[in-house]
Amino acid sequence: MTAAPKISFVSLGCPKALVDSERIITRLRAEGYDLSRTHQGADLVLVNTCGFLDSAKAESLAAIGDALKDNGRVIVTGCMGAEPEQIRAVHPSVLAISGPQQYESVLAAVHEAVPPQHKPFLDLVPPQGIKLTPRHYAYLKISEGCNNRCTFCIIPKLRGDLVSRPLGEVMVEAEKLVAAGVKEIMVISQDTSAYGVDVKYAESRWRDRNWRTKFLDLAQALGELGVWVRMQYVYPYPHVDEVIPLMAAGKILPYIDIPFQHAHPDVLRRMKRPAHQEKTAERIRRWRDMCPDLTIRSTFITGFPGETEEEFQFLLDWLDEVGLDRVGCFKYEPVAGATSNDLPDHVAPEVMDRRWHRFMKKQAEISAKRLKRKVGTRQQVMVDELGTTVVKARSKGDAPEIDGAVYIHTKRKLQLGEFVTVKIDRATEYDLHASL
Ligand code: SF4
Repeated sequence: MTAAPKISFVSLGCPKALVDSERIITRLRAEGYDLSRTHQGADLVLVNTCGFLDSAKAESLAAIGDALKDNGRVIVTGCMGAEPEQIRAVHPSVLAISGPQQYESVLAAVHEAVPPQHKPFLDLVPPQGIKLTPRHYAYLKISEGCNNRCTFCIIPKLRGDLVSRPLGEVMVEAEKLVAAGVKEIMVISQDTSAYGVDVKYAESRWRDRNWRTKFLDLAQALGELGVWVRMQYVYPYPHVDEVIPLMAAGKILPYIDIPFQHAHPDVLRRMKRPAHQEKTAERIRRWRDMCPDLTIRSTFITGFPGETEEEFQFLLDWLDEVGLDRVGCFKYEPVAGATSNDLPDHVAPEVMDRRWHRFMKKQAEISAKRLKRKVGTRQQVMVDELGTTVVKARSKGDAPEIDGAVYIHTKRKLQLGEFVTVKIDRATEYDLHASL
């Protein structure tokens, strides 16, 4: 028997791109391809690119360059593949280019470059597919594309309008993940609360009953699986209020990731953000009344075109007022093709820089204050990384990769993915330290 063809895979970009990579790898493994840890010695390199920001494009082009240097046979897919001429201009020798979710084209290109060997007894893959995340947590992609047209974003151009997967199909995938040992499911999409709008919330079957393809039904169904369920990329549409009681009841995690991007109504209007309204602070207060343990995560942009000092100060005051738990902040980047580039009064880089530092300083104070409230409490955490005297874990309020961590000081042997209850001893700006 000859050795299976080997593919070296590079996955760049956001969790949505990661899920695309997992799908492609699952298919490749099912067809008998092996994965290679290095470009050297592989039969082919597949690069799943990100094209969201210019800095991500530069990273994608560099990764393609490395693959060409180390191997020479390279196929490119993913968001940047939607603009093949940009890739060809720098790397004319790539074998094939396809855009995001063009699974069939990317597989066809792989077949042409390195034909598969059919080995029915070796081609088995685990039923949950191949996951690139650690075994105890996984991303669950519920839809693709986006119906919004935020002026700074080109994702709808790259990925098209919203296409939701039927709830029954999503739940079968979720069940397989749980059966394979996954303890935490992170729900992702471009706009999670818009789930099902494109199919008019059509019903589908799961566990002998009909469910609407809708955010609330999805949260209820996932809540039946008995694992941690974390909702990401939620916009504050009115029906989000209905999901908060499920968080309070412990069905899904009391955690919500809402990319607000700004607080000033005029900036939000220029951004064309979905579901923005002036009463957000009041709603957040109501959510916290319903679910006091709720962790709210968000991201913001400073220096959006036309942002005045007054608008920026409004954002800082708003942050003070609502006290979000976890916050990321980006400086505005004029992504090629984004309509916001045509807006007047772009903010000077040094002003943007100063505002970014002021924002981060403010948020560090807020975050430290909010985390301090947890000192002395007992929290259930999940073990993410082992160590001899310090174990890295996460509480219900921490998403992997993006949020802080809970460091458990212990010599006890713990397992990856194990749930333990710890006592929080102290807090820093972003992390907690605990003992068993
Ligand atoms: S909601 Fe806005 S920022 Fe998010 S993907 Fe859609 S258009 Fe882009």
